Amino acid sequence: MSDYKVGHPLSKRCNKCFHPEVTINQTVQKEFSEKIAYILWLQCPDCGFNDTALLPKDE
Ligand SMILES: [Zn+2]
Repeated sequence: MSDYKVGHPLSKRCNKCFHPEVTINQTVQKEFSEKIAYILWLQCPDCGFNDTALLPKDE
């Protein structure tokens, strides 16, 4: 998978209720000098907890 898509699930544990998967609510692409990363806004479908994550683009 080379992109993170809004509305798709992501395998990341919720920090609040430890649900094993969260939903991607918004993505922002960030370009650094040598690589591309994404800032992801995440929401747990179980408890509604909002979180963010900075993840590198998969090559
Ligand atoms: Zn949760």
